[in-house]
Amino acid sequence: MSEVSKVSTFAPPKDAWGTNADFDGTHRKGELRGIIKINQNNCVGCDTCSSFCPTEAIQGSLGVAHKISVNSCVNCAQCLVNCPFGAIEQMSFVDIVMEKLQDPKAFVVAHPSPSVRVSIAEEFGGKPGDLTVNRLYNAFEKAGFHNYDVNFAADQTILEEGTEFIKKVKYWALGERSEELEHVAHHPFPHFTSCCPAWVKNAETFHPSLIPHISGAKSPIQMGGALAKTWAAKFVWKVDPQDIFMVAVTPCTAKIFEASRPEFNSAYKYLIQNNQIPQDTKSFQDIDAVLTARDIAEIFRRKGINPLTLSDERETETMNVYTGAATIFGNSGGVMEAALRTAYFILSGFELSNPDVIVVRGYEKDIVEAVIPIPLKDYGGKIIEVKIAVVNGASRNIKEIVKRLTDDNNKYHFVEVMNCPGGCVNGGGQPVRTMGTSWLHPLLPLPLRA
Ligand code: SF4
Ligand code: SF4
Ligand code: SF4
Repeated sequence: MSEVSKVSTFAPPKDAWGTNADFDGTHRKGELRGIIKINQNNCVGCDTCSSFCPTEAIQGSLGVAHKISVNSCVNCAQCLVNCPFGAIEQMSFVDIVMEKLQDPKAFVVAHPSPSVRVSIAEEFGGKPGDLTVNRLYNAFEKAGFHNYDVNFAADQTILEEGTEFIKKVKYWALGERSEELEHVAHHPFPHFTSCCPAWVKNAETFHPSLIPHISGAKSPIQMGGALAKTWAAKFVWKVDPQDIFMVAVTPCTAKIFEASRPEFNSAYKYLIQNNQIPQDTKSFQDIDAVLTARDIAEIFRRKGINPLTLSDERETETMNVYTGAATIFGNSGGVMEAALRTAYFILSGFELSNPDVIVVRGYEKDIVEAVIPIPLKDYGGKIIEVKIAVVNGASRNIKEIVKRLTDDNNKYHFVEVMNCPGGCVNGGGQPVRTMGTSWLHPLLPLPLRA
């Protein structure tokens, strides 16, 4: 196996979570842009990156340095992990987080996504997955972080998204009408997942007719940020929410963009409404900084920490409790599988006899379709056939799905979309190996992808 490559980075603009950046092109006021950049001095114009870009955002002739159109880019960094010449760079919050870790007043929290725990070992010479979760938690603690696992919040996402889907089944498939179901009246099938910010931005920019179909549930990281600064601050950590500095540790560069979106200041709004902070407090985001798997490895290196050498013992903490359904979010089909388990239980009244809904696991195919029969306890056991699709590596697939939906509105009830091939495990913030990491190159026929 080749060595992990170093990826060049650059600092975010001052006041990154931004009040300075104005509305421009496809970006709203405050949203970060230019998160992924091509270094014009290092690009040889080989055009490899273009074939991995889901939105045709990369422009340039063969042999000439390429450029990224900021307005078309969805910040996924699939171009970066697949550039054979290391010419693509990522905005990084490493220096900002290092500074916060020195601040005695700051309560700095590491919020690690499922996929980071399977990839971080590679940065320290181990194999993928060569690390226990406890080693990772211990490494965070040694570096000065408090721990709050994103998986805890992913379980919340499942409940939110599963419940929302059930409401749609009741309203749209079973014709039930009640006050409780009113809000889904404007959100018909198919129901699309919302936890991949690259997909959400792609839909907003290129397929706006799909917006009413996208789940209203926030991504696990964003749910986690809001929960940390409200419930956990008050009942678990017993700290001032304004002292909390939430650091999402993710396989994903699009999460950097997501964290800057103006609506993701729910904790601030809640605390103001409930008079828990002074009314003149300046707005703050739910997530204060985002580190990729590569970035957190850099922080560990600067602090002389090798997580592979740490103890794998640790007592379970309140904010690190989660189910197996949360863990599979990192894999294509995982969100769908987790939500289906919840929907099946609530609609039928009993657990799936085998909770492994293997048919939706999409990491070997770029589109998976299936029909899941669910007996309805409130309708005398009547069966509803839930038609689903799982899409990953969105470069060609989104257009294909949109075409199928336009051809037949009743084609699917539930569609999961993950921008990266195989899902977040292959995200643009993961460790990079020379000549690219993507084992699912979109131009190769499936049997040749390895
Ligand atoms: S793959 Fe890298 S070197 Fe090739 S055109 Fe893209 S940025 Fe330039
Ligand atoms: S970050 Fe993603 S969307 Fe942006 S140019 Fe690279 S591959 Fe395309
Ligand atoms: S698939 Fe995962 S890693 Fe890739 S852009 Fe979406 S959320 Fe980020």
